[in-house]
Amino acid sequence: VLWWGCRRTRGEEFMIYKDAKQPIGVRVKDLLGRMTLEEKIGQMAQIDRTVATSDIVKNYYIGSLLSGGGSTPLPHATAADWVNMVNDFQKGSLSTRLGIPMIYGIDAVHGHNNVYNATIFPHNIGLGATRDPELLQRIGDATAVEVRATGIPYAFAPCIAVCRDPRWGRCYESYSEDPKIVEEMTDIILGLQGEIPKGSEQGVPYVAGKNKVAACAKHFVGDGGTTKGINENNTLTDMHGLLSIHMPAYYDAINKGVATVMISYSSWNGNKMHANNELITGFLKGKLKFKGFVISDWQGIDRITSPPHSNYTYSVLESVLAGIDMIMIPYNFTEFIDDLMYLVKNKFIQMERIDDAVGRILLVKFTLGLFENPLADLSLVNEVGSQAHRNLAREAVRKSLVLLKNGKNANDSVLPLPKKVGKILVAGSHADNLGYQCGGWTIAWQGFSGNNYTSGTTILSAISSAVDKDTEVIYSENPDSEYVKSHNFNYAVVIVGEHPYTESAGDSQTLTMADPGPDVIKNVCGAVKCVVVIISGRPIVIEPYIPGIDALVAAWLPGTEGQGVSDVLFGDYGFTGKLSRTWFKTVDQLPMNVGDSHYDPLFPFGFGLTTKRIVSRSISAGVDGRPYVPVIMIFVFIGLYFQGKFLS
Ligand code: BGC
Repeated sequence: VLWWGCRRTRGEEFMIYKDAKQPIGVRVKDLLGRMTLEEKIGQMAQIDRTVATSDIVKNYYIGSLLSGGGSTPLPHATAADWVNMVNDFQKGSLSTRLGIPMIYGIDAVHGHNNVYNATIFPHNIGLGATRDPELLQRIGDATAVEVRATGIPYAFAPCIAVCRDPRWGRCYESYSEDPKIVEEMTDIILGLQGEIPKGSEQGVPYVAGKNKVAACAKHFVGDGGTTKGINENNTLTDMHGLLSIHMPAYYDAINKGVATVMISYSSWNGNKMHANNELITGFLKGKLKFKGFVISDWQGIDRITSPPHSNYTYSVLESVLAGIDMIMIPYNFTEFIDDLMYLVKNKFIQMERIDDAVGRILLVKFTLGLFENPLADLSLVNEVGSQAHRNLAREAVRKSLVLLKNGKNANDSVLPLPKKVGKILVAGSHADNLGYQCGGWTIAWQGFSGNNYTSGTTILSAISSAVDKDTEVIYSENPDSEYVKSHNFNYAVVIVGEHPYTESAGDSQTLTMADPGPDVIKNVCGAVKCVVVIISGRPIVIEPYIPGIDALVAAWLPGTEGQGVSDVLFGDYGFTGKLSRTWFKTVDQLPMNVGDSHYDPLFPFGFGLTTKRIVSRSISAGVDGRPYVPVIMIFVFIGLYFQGKFLS
């Protein structure tokens, strides 16, 4: 190896780390051996694209960039615009002395959600209701392709929080209150990164190629367990609670080869996770043998102190010593670089720790093939929002819907709805609002309102195209009861719920429905048979309205494919989703999770009524473009008949 390392070809030094045939470990070691302290520290910084230029990337040896929630959105940028932007930054990295490519990361948490026209899948709470890990793997696969299509090799997903209290503003990012379901759902990693080969070394990251991305299990650990669901707060539980509720999904993620892990803003028993050496270095890197890199959350290290950023040198020291390898938003990055240089030069942080951090980052970059293919091309741009991905999202929506009530008495079921009927009323603020349907983390950090920022199908337009051509669909966002009574509607679909929110902005101690939702329910359901569809990131207060409602559906935050809802409302598919969380009666019962001694839910964990698919009338609908068995059989019989005639 030494001989190869020193060999010179045509006067140019042969660099082992550039040789794709060498084992990755050898390449990492070779490259580390060539790097200056400055070059190493640059690798540990992940800066926001809005403060970066390709010169900055070059001059400070920046290891990573991101479009984070806090970045100004790029509302109508095309996939090609993204590729060009990412490549521009990459050219800065490639022009450094050693040409180490940067890694660009983004929050692709329900599809490639920052990107115009991308397929937006249901948020995790809805995916938890599908109980379908194989579906999750396919969603991971589609998401990876869309992310890669924009030149990005790294997604800050999945969130494997176990949300124990729906008052948390991030509860919808959690698959379930039940650790088992969250564990199963980590199969999304197999889709994002590819299926890890059997017999792989424990903890070594795996990414299968150019259509895959490095995933990120977040937020380590206990993010979903904070008191009263207050975001970034304290998770009060003993080691047993941590290991049995919040930790299990990390075992799974690591066994599935997850490339990176993000640290939680929250504290465990009063100690900030960003400074927790015992759990990051001792447990994650030690016991779980995780070999990928550990990334901080957005300015997470600043928040070790109160107020945040009041003692940055201390923040850098504590977080790097705790075992964090890459700092997301190293505040003013020159300050971070200066601080870390000082701390290493003065031996407050040993070079071995820096080499560990940088070695892990390089390992992921080599695994991704970034050294061989640092620049993205435009070959995948048509994959963004492709019909195949939209069909998959539609399937996910169908499977995520949970039917909570169907008829006022046992023999009086309302769903599925008939397609051929005189007049249907569709009402409510969430019926024709793609932004509300998608929730937070869509185009902008806090989501959006209306139909202008991306493409998709609202539930209203899905209903309009699902019904028979002679059926009239009338939309009124907030009708009064006189209006409803005077119009002879056969039935109504009321679509109401929460407005989009993200992180702390979504913390709520009341969990009420957005106005005028309750009035719409009252006015409509008092006057005509009604189906209420709730669009929300969690269970919300619903008990008082239940007696007046004929049928009730939890649709969570379904994303861009509203037809998934109409497919099931009108019986082209049956309801199959099961609650991935407990639905409370009143907020003062919270927290309340399955297994608690005071368990007295409105709808228990796992609840979900079913309906049968109506096959006969779906023939003309040609759901998903597939002809139905009965149709095929008719042709077979006709064929046999004529064949018989012919033979006789
Ligand atoms: C969130 C992370 C996210 C990061 C980058 C933080 O505020 O907690 O989940 O990945 O921002 O947008």
